[in-house]
Amino acid sequence: MLLMSHSFIGMELAPRLACRLDSRLTTDCIELAVDPADGCLLATKPVSGGNAISVFKCSGQTQMVTVRGNVFPPAESGSAGGAVAPISITIDESMSRTQSLEIVAEDTVALDKANIVIAGGAGLGDEDGFELLEELAEALGQSFGSVMIGCSRMAVDKGWISSDHQIGLTGTIIAPDVYVAVGISGAIHHLVGMVHSKKIIAINTDPSCNIFKVADYGIVEDYEQVLPTLIKRLEEVL
Ligand SMILES: Cc1cc2nc3c(=O)[nH]c(=O)nc-3n(C[C@H](O)[C@H](O)[C@H](O)COP(=O)(O)OP(=O)(O)OC[C@H]3O[C@@H](n4cnc5c(N)ncnc54)[C@H](O)[C@@H]3O)c2cc1C
Repeated sequence: MLLMSHSFIGMELAPRLACRLDSRLTTDCIELAVDPADGCLLATKPVSGGNAISVFKCSGQTQMVTVRGNVFPPAESGSAGGAVAPISITIDESMSRTQSLEIVAEDTVALDKANIVIAGGAGLGDEDGFELLEELAEALGQSFGSVMIGCSRMAVDKGWISSDHQIGLTGTIIAPDVYVAVGISGAIHHLVGMVHSKKIIAINTDPSCNIFKVADYGIVEDYEQVLPTLIKRLEEVL
């Protein structure tokens, strides 16, 4: 079984390798299991533009998958018991048919690198709601590492914030130290993107909404009541 990350390198390397090894390849998986009947790898992935989720059975001598980043919690080093084999390679530059002329840093939102993500959803009511989230981020400052603003797809669809802030199946998958969901119901498409966060805090007026099923701390209240108090308190103590 060959598991690779669905990163830019994995996306490029895995299909080439699969072709050379004459293996099938299942890409962009979000869940993995082993079929107890025959030991084959079962790979779950979104299909039809994310509208459905399918399980693929990998068979054959080589079973290959690429896996989305952050869908699994990090494993303890050495916990799998496998041996780590460092391999030294020499790359003959003259064999390469591509040449890097320039590296340009892109101004993107690196949500998956943030320590804290504060995300807003349709429950914010309008785009001004994100100003309160920004104020909360400012009050936290750098005390607990980097803080970034995320959102649900509904907030993007309403035009309140750009899509590079979107968390979920068709957005970024993250696992920060703390995730704060403000006015987000917790639809499965959203949960896939944040459920592995180490601590989840949810603020929502509806006590029966899905987000509370995964939250470590839940506040059932209008966010416009909660956030100003929280911001004031943080400004006092930090
Ligand atoms: C193929 C596909 C892919 C998708 N991909 C994604 C994805 O990547 N990411 C994603 O997020 N969604 C995705 N979706 C959409 C997803 O199914 C949900 O529609 C979306 O996540 C809902 O967003 P929301 O929670 O902001 O809105 P809602 O479900 O409308 O929830 C709003 C919440 O705000 C609460 N609320 C209202 N007023 C207040 C207040 N004053 N204070 C506090 N709480 C309040 C309400 O109780 C409610 O729970 C996808 C859907 C499809 C079909």
